[in-house]
Amino acid sequence: MKELENWGVSLEDIPVEGLKIDFNELKDLGEDLEVKQPFSGYLKLKKIGIEVKLEGFLKGSLVLTCDRCLTPFEFFIEHEFEVNLQPVSSLNFEEEKELSEEEMDVSFYSESWISFYEILREEIFLSLPVKKLCKEDCKGLCPICGKNLNTGSCNCKPYKKDSPFAILKTLLKEKDKTKEKGG
Ligand SMILES: [Zn+2]
Ligand SMILES: [Zn+2]
Repeated sequence: MKELENWGVSLEDIPVEGLKIDFNELKDLGEDLEVKQPFSGYLKLKKIGIEVKLEGFLKGSLVLTCDRCLTPFEFFIEHEFEVNLQPVSSLNFEEEKELSEEEMDVSFYSESWISFYEILREEIFLSLPVKKLCKEDCKGLCPICGKNLNTGSCNCKPYKKDSPFAILKTLLKEKDKTKEKGG
């Protein structure tokens, strides 16, 4: 939806006392975010000099794909955030380099325009887990036949991974062998 992408505020339209925006039923947040339960929440903005202090909250759910078994699952998000928005023009090159490496709670606006759409998208991405799992103990897919092992086992030979313990066992065995030889 085009309108949502243009959803935001001009710096000069933020009153001295601050601005609070409530939103609900947001579902068109871009093609890369599949919304299940539409998002609701609020954004509070306050101008401090050339900076804008933003506090917000969002709640909703997305459809994610499990990294292990590739099954879609619903992921609930309830996320509170604080961001300091600074004009892009306040940056010099050196600062820009440093900031991209660490500081993530600072964002930038350009042309005096603050995009609520971009801020919400960014905050949703920040609240996603690094590893997306349908459940913590997801068994994943059989690497041989591709069966979803959460729904039952298959007849393939069990897939053995070298665990640290397996390696330790081998090492101990070899030690025993040397002992036998020596004794
Ligand atoms: Zn899974
Ligand atoms: Zn299998």
